[in-house]
Amino acid sequence: MTTKSLAPAPLRRIPFCRVSCDGNELAYVKDVLESGWLTTASRAHDFERHFAEAVGARFACAVNSCTSALHLALEALDVKPGDEVIVPTMTFTATAEVVRYLGADPVLVDVEYGTGLITPEILLDAVEHHPRAKALMVVHYAGQPALMLGGNGRAGILDICRRSGLRVVEDAAHAFPTRCESLMIGGIGDATCFSFYANKTITTGEGGMLTTNNPAIDARVRVMRLHGIDRDIWSRFTEATPSWEYDVVAPGFKYNMPDINAAIGLAQLERAALMRDRRQRLATHYFERLAGLEDIDLPIVRVPFEDHAWHLFVLVVRPTAKLCRNRLIEILTERGIGTSVPYKPLHRLSYYRDHYPLSPADFPEAERIWSGCLALPLYPSLTEEDQDYLCDILIELLG
Ligand SMILES: *Cc1c(COP(=O)(O)O)cnc(C)c1O
Repeated sequence: MTTKSLAPAPLRRIPFCRVSCDGNELAYVKDVLESGWLTTASRAHDFERHFAEAVGARFACAVNSCTSALHLALEALDVKPGDEVIVPTMTFTATAEVVRYLGADPVLVDVEYGTGLITPEILLDAVEHHPRAKALMVVHYAGQPALMLGGNGRAGILDICRRSGLRVVEDAAHAFPTRCESLMIGGIGDATCFSFYANKTITTGEGGMLTTNNPAIDARVRVMRLHGIDRDIWSRFTEATPSWEYDVVAPGFKYNMPDINAAIGLAQLERAALMRDRRQRLATHYFERLAGLEDIDLPIVRVPFEDHAWHLFVLVVRPTAKLCRNRLIEILTERGIGTSVPYKPLHRLSYYRDHYPLSPADFPEAERIWSGCLALPLYPSLTEEDQDYLCDILIELLG
């Protein structure tokens, strides 16, 4: 009889992601359950108010996902079939799929190596080749802001868009809280979309927020997030006109955020700055421990560390490394460490490849990132001991 040899159990288990719900989440959810009103009402309104304040936006509209927010943003900007929308290739499919929801076409562009961000130079090139483009999606990759505002004689992304007649939607799924010079991400572009998916910097389980300073965009988004009804359920039950009376002005969507989720969001918001500080400390520790490892490129940070949301810590394993990225992931998994690969660029996914004339050669920097990128665990409950265990393994394997 043979016995199957078992791999030794890992010393530690370090998941890629772990939510922190150790504040008022439970108490606030309990209040909602006891109130008897579970769907969108006062908690969602409170969450919108506090969130708008946190990012310095005039309006915030709570929805059930960032994907919904991105869809509503483009709809409010009147993106139509045949329109072109510029989208960086290094992102999650949601950023581009919403363009297709409206029958418009994503124009994929490369990103900068080291930051994963679209730059003013990349945008200028895209505008030159696609003068008809209607809008730009900016992804603040990993939580670092793209160069929206420019300065020192260098045009920022916002200037270029204004000059070229491009509307700006920011996919800020990674970018709360993120500062861009004197402003917070959320108060800059035409519309900014945040995600509160479970693995994001703050969570509501599932959820999203659209912020804007433009009253017309806000008004359209509010109507379209709830069936195209001209007033939301809450105001129907609180204002003077009869509660049964409403009008439908468009075939809208069902994208509202329930109060149960908003209650979690309110508790998360209270700790958002603390949790960001903690992630920054952990990121700093990664930089200290991994500096000088020749087989990897650490992320390039072009802003003060305090301005970065530190959602992801993405390094790139160089092509000349002793181990390739895929093998490294296998070994880390065996040793109990979760990692992630953000992202396989959109131009490599079969839907986009089959529908558009895309060639990897047109995205050299995204290709360099994709071939070696690896995100390490980065969340408030991660300990320095966890990080040291992980970094020791990386140094042993790649040093
Ligand atoms: C998570 C994510 C989304 C989608 O967020 P949901 O809230 O799950 O819809 C969109 N874009 C990026 C860059 C993301 O990371």
